[in-house]
Amino acid sequence: MPLKKKYKGMSTTCTHVGRIIDEQFGGSISPIYMGTSYEYIDKDKDRYPRYSSTPNQEYLSKKIASLEETEEALILGSGMAAISSSLMAFLSSGDHIVVQNDIYGGTRSLIEKYFNNFGIEYSFTKGLLVSDFEREIRKNTKAIYIETPSNPLLKIVDISDIANLSKSHSLVSYIDNTFATPIIQKPHKLGIDIVIHSATKYFGGHSDICAGAVASSKEKIDKIWSFSKKFGGSLSDYTAWLLERSMKTLTVRFYEQQKNAKILSSFLNDSSSIEKVHFPGIENNEFYAIACKQMDGFGAVISFELKKNISPKEFLTSLELINPSMSFAGVESTMLSPAETSHQLLSKKERIEQGIVDNLIRFSVGIEDPEDLIEDINLAIHKCKK
Ligand SMILES: *Cc1c(COP(=O)(O)O)cnc(C)c1O
Repeated sequence: MPLKKKYKGMSTTCTHVGRIIDEQFGGSISPIYMGTSYEYIDKDKDRYPRYSSTPNQEYLSKKIASLEETEEALILGSGMAAISSSLMAFLSSGDHIVVQNDIYGGTRSLIEKYFNNFGIEYSFTKGLLVSDFEREIRKNTKAIYIETPSNPLLKIVDISDIANLSKSHSLVSYIDNTFATPIIQKPHKLGIDIVIHSATKYFGGHSDICAGAVASSKEKIDKIWSFSKKFGGSLSDYTAWLLERSMKTLTVRFYEQQKNAKILSSFLNDSSSIEKVHFPGIENNEFYAIACKQMDGFGAVISFELKKNISPKEFLTSLELINPSMSFAGVESTMLSPAETSHQLLSKKERIEQGIVDNLIRFSVGIEDPEDLIEDINLAIHKCKK
C-alpha cells in the first residue's frame, strides 16, 4: 500500500518515500522500468528518460524532495548535470552571478571556462562572510552560489545570512549541499531557493553510482527541468533504481560515518604527528559556532595537515585499510592529497592562498570500526618516521 500518513522521520523517509508499489506481484521493492517508450493517449504525463519522467526517476525524486523539504526535486545523470542545468536555467547573457570562492573544482571550471562564451558575468568572493558576498553584487547580479561545508577545508558559510541577502536583492540563491546532506542540513528551510546534490557521494554511498539531484519549489524545478530535458544529462533507470536502494540506508550510513569522524577528529587533533585538523566539530575550530547554529551534525569529512617531517605520498601509500583514492562519501574510508589531485591545476601560489598546503590530507571517514582506522593511521605514521 502507498503511505497514507505523512511521516516525519528521516529514516522512515529514506526507507519508504518514493517506493513504486508493485501492484502486479506484491514485491516489497520498486520494480525497474527500463522502457524508453510509453503510451501517450489519455495520459497526463509525457514519460521519457531524458525528460526525467520515467516511473523510477519520478518516484525517486519524491524521496529527495521529502528529505530537503521542498515541493519538488529532479534527478539527473551527475552532480555536474544538476549544477549546470540549475545555473543555466536562470542565467542569460548580460547577467551576473556571485560565487563563493572555494567551491567544487568542476563547478569552478564550468564557470571560469564557459560562462564568458554565454555572456554571463561572474565574481568569486574574497571571503566567506556575508559582507564578502554583498560587496560583489552589481546592478545585473541575478544569483548567488554557495557550497557549505566546502571542500577540502570544511569552511562554513552562514546560510540564513546568504538567503536574506539574496532575498533583499531579489536574487536566485543556490547551495551545493553535497557535503552535509539533508540529514544534517536543510538549506531550503533556511531560505535558500535551490539545493543541489552530487548523489555520487553520500546519497549513493557505495562508490558505484554517478548521479545528481536538485530540489526546489515547483516553479523553479519546472524551469530547471525545461532546460535539463534539452541539455540531456538524464539518469538511467537502472541507476535510479540503485540509487533508491542506496538511499534507504542514507541515515544509518551517514550517522555512523559522522560518529566515526568525531572520534577520528579527536584522535588526529591529539596526535603529535599532525600539525592541524580542519573539522567544524572541534570546539576551537573557527566555524564551530556557526556549524552548531545551522547543522545537526558536523559531517564525515576531515582534513588534516601532516607534520612537515612526514611525506604525504609516503603516508598515503603506507596505509593498509584506508584507500588513497579520489572522490569521497563511500562506506569505505578514503584519503587523498588535494594538492596532488583536486587542486593540482592551480599554481602553488594559488594553492597556498587557498590553504591547500602540500601536507594537507582529506579524509572521508567510512563505517569501519574507528579503532581499526586509528591503528591504520598510527602504523602508517610510524612507517613514515623510520
Ligand atoms: C563530486 C561533487 C560534485 C560533482 O558531482 P558529480 O556527480 O561528480 O558530477 C559537485 N559538488 C560537490 C561538492 C562534489 O563533491
